[in-house]
Amino acid sequence: MAKDYDVLIIGGGTAGLMTAAQLHRKDKQLRIGLIEPSAKHHYQPAYTLVAAGTFDMKDTIRNEGDYVPKGVDWIKEHAATFEPEKDTVRTSEGQSYTYGHLVVCPGIKLDIDAMPGLREALATDFVCSNYIDPEKTLRVLKAFKGGNAVFTQPSTPIKCGGAPQKAAYMSDEFLRKSGVRDKTNLVYATPGSVIFGVKEFAPALMDVIHKKGIILKTFYNPVRIDPVKKEIHFKWSKPGENSCVLTEDQGLKEKVEGESTIVMPYDMLHLAPPQSAPDFIKQSPLAYQEGPSKGWLEVDINSLQHKRYANIFGLGDVAALPTAKTGAAIRKQVPVVVANVLQRIKDGLLSKEQYSGYSSCPLVTGYGKMLLAEFKYDNVRDSDPLLRRLFDTTKPLWSMWILKKYGLPWLYWNKMLRGTM
Ligand SMILES: Cc1cc2nc3c(=O)[nH]c(=O)nc-3n(C[C@H](O)[C@H](O)[C@H](O)COP(=O)(O)OP(=O)(O)OC[C@H]3O[C@@H](n4cnc5c(N)ncnc54)[C@H](O)[C@@H]3O)c2cc1C
Repeated sequence: MAKDYDVLIIGGGTAGLMTAAQLHRKDKQLRIGLIEPSAKHHYQPAYTLVAAGTFDMKDTIRNEGDYVPKGVDWIKEHAATFEPEKDTVRTSEGQSYTYGHLVVCPGIKLDIDAMPGLREALATDFVCSNYIDPEKTLRVLKAFKGGNAVFTQPSTPIKCGGAPQKAAYMSDEFLRKSGVRDKTNLVYATPGSVIFGVKEFAPALMDVIHKKGIILKTFYNPVRIDPVKKEIHFKWSKPGENSCVLTEDQGLKEKVEGESTIVMPYDMLHLAPPQSAPDFIKQSPLAYQEGPSKGWLEVDINSLQHKRYANIFGLGDVAALPTAKTGAAIRKQVPVVVANVLQRIKDGLLSKEQYSGYSSCPLVTGYGKMLLAEFKYDNVRDSDPLLRRLFDTTKPLWSMWILKKYGLPWLYWNKMLRGTM
């Protein structure tokens, strides 16, 4: 029986729209369906700039319909369950669709309820997140009068792993401009052991931290917030050590509770919330059922083909790939998925295209300064050869800031989402 679609795509965000556009450009006869419930598309990489008051939120939002390629069926529903043996997807709206190939890319879930107190804390005027409402971050910064300004990173995988530290760097400069930085203890707390995993970029970022006077706390895993007392609780996460000692008094009024809980008062708090795969993926047969990647989409890290269902591919934030979850990574993943799907339609084989784990993190370190960290699997530096010849891309640069603020948004809307880059 003929399938409803040759290719059915789940999620019309960065990955879904780019995949639809490239597939449609390459073969206009393909019957492509795109399941995407949202009427709006969001350019999330600019949220960091919105929060720093240097980019307009309304310029990050456009109509989804203007980017779904003509000739692709936009199904405005929520994918809910999968029957991979029957090549069928069912939606919450009660419809079902069959496919020859399925591409799964519904993004990531901001798991607010995974941290006790977070939902209540976000309802107060002191707690914000660029991931949830970057305009609120700006309001919180404007109202801040000094004290502890605490920036955290969770222990779950997150999209754009560099975004929490970018928030800290931009806030540092904002508070210098507003004249309260000298009354501020600016803390960046991470569960990790280092500021950045790729060794070539870490020294420049440590230099930024030192010059800005940011108090870096490693092995600090945020686990709970008490919004009434305005305190955040961290679990000390140093491997092999289950008790901690506060060695220095940095004026933060931190205290230790029990053996390994550190309680830190805050006057403002910025969080990257805990994140996970969307529930309908976690509960599906397409997710890893066990192990460290449990719940995330089970794909081969080079071909992006599902490990158990050969006609299913996955990419973007939902995929269990050991690299940073970014739009930049997706730009390199899409051609691999597109080539493999087209090759399989032709002769049932995979193409020669392989994803190397490329991702990049445009680390804005202040107004007019950005370090473009490009890398691939195993934290190996993978800077663009041309950029590398022209600039020292291990340092924050004004040229990269111009790329971030003007170049990348233009390329995103006009080239990447149109399937030409
Ligand atoms: C603060 C912040 C800063 C960032 N900075 C950068 C940066 O500087 N550079 C960079 O490259 N990346 C950055 N990113 C990350 C980047 O935005 C994401 O990695 C990228 O958008 C992920 O694309 P995606 O298609 O996987 O998910 P998304 O773009 O989030 O799209 C997922 C889509 O799936 C849809 N969907 C959800 N559930 C269903 C369902 N049940 N059925 C059908 N559709 C569904 C959603 O409506 C959505 O449209 C940043 C992100 C944030 C939040």
